[in-house]
Amino acid sequence: MLRHVWAFAAAESCGACSPCRVGSRRGLEQAGAGVAPGAAYARMLNVMGEASLCAFGRRLPAAVRSLARAYGDRLRGWGG
Ligand code: SF4
Repeated sequence: MLRHVWAFAAAESCGACSPCRVGSRRGLEQAGAGVAPGAAYARMLNVMGEASLCAFGRRLPAAVRSLARAYGDRLRGWGG
């Protein structure tokens, strides 16, 4: 489900701003790698949430964090 959220973000990002364009692709790569995310991933979520041009990129971190909260230990670290 996490990979699906990031795949949706990468596919639907219009590419007009770097935080969303780059962040959504990096999120998808990270989710597909199958390893726990680190500090760079947490920083990426913060940058997306604060610097994306429109609500799509700004609210995507909230969707990922909500998913991570719902799945608790199974998605530890994915909420940033
Ligand atoms: S945040 Fe909005 S403007 Fe920026 S790339 Fe994503 S969809 Fe486009």
